[in-house]
Amino acid sequence: MTASTLLYVSLGLAPFLVSALRRRWSTGFAHHGPPGAAALALTTYALTLALTQGIVLCLTAYLGTIELFPVVHPSDWSASVLGANLRIPAWCAVGCAIVAAALLARAGARIVLSLSAVRTTNAASRRLAPSADLAVVAGASRVAFAAPAWFSRRRGRIVVSRELLAVMTVPERKALIAHERSHLRHAHHLYALVIRVAAAANPLVGDLVAPVDHACERWADRDAAAAVGDPVIVAHALGRAALTDRRAPEGALGATHSDVVSRVRDLLEPQPTDRRALIRCALLVAVSWAMTLALVAHGHAIVELAEQGLS
Ligand SMILES: [Zn+2]
Repeated sequence: MTASTLLYVSLGLAPFLVSALRRRWSTGFAHHGPPGAAALALTTYALTLALTQGIVLCLTAYLGTIELFPVVHPSDWSASVLGANLRIPAWCAVGCAIVAAALLARAGARIVLSLSAVRTTNAASRRLAPSADLAVVAGASRVAFAAPAWFSRRRGRIVVSRELLAVMTVPERKALIAHERSHLRHAHHLYALVIRVAAAANPLVGDLVAPVDHACERWADRDAAAAVGDPVIVAHALGRAALTDRRAPEGALGATHSDVVSRVRDLLEPQPTDRRALIRCALLVAVSWAMTLALVAHGHAIVELAEQGLS
């Protein structure tokens, strides 16, 4: 293996190694870190790994197939000079191309499915509440969710069933609605969409979906506690909302679709904030991008040598 190839492989493996480094702390970060920072950092981290690993796969597929598919490469490249500087086996390049295409298709399908579900939910919530941001529905099972408004100046609508409100005290109702309003105000649906698209584009970050959802729920719980002035009321509201018969529809955000017991414990016995995970997350994002940009620069330098090979 040439020194140039060794450098290429080392830089290209870096984003994949970063994936393996985070399993021990990401769940704890989502459960005990500052919720807003945890949601943003973990989503950024997952998106970074999806993009950087995708770049590595696409670049390797492109540079490794010059002899197999010369028609897709510039005609002034010297295949022999490129091969002397960067030895990528054909099977590896073709494998990277197949994997990259499959992951891109998965990500595209996820986007289409999510937007389709959002459109259906939006249409349904508009019919329930044509003007107000809160719709109280009767004759339904116990349900509460926030339906974000996409591609609109409105933030969205909150849908709560009369049956659920009937088993809550007035302060608990306020806490529930404050929780749902927090989802809309902080655009938690965007975190939900981005983390799911990143997970579709890169299965190695698929286990970050639940931690990001959980951090968003804790974020809304804390906003609700600030709104009603008492975390105990929010904990009681969560307990009653956990009795809901139905999950929030796809594209909407419910109150209880992540670990309620852990969230109640977080409200009643908050742990001291540990910001080390945030620093670690930022460092891993920076390392992933630095290594990937260095890889692209290295690949570009090799291509320039290949171009000079014929001149
Ligand atoms: Zn919620």
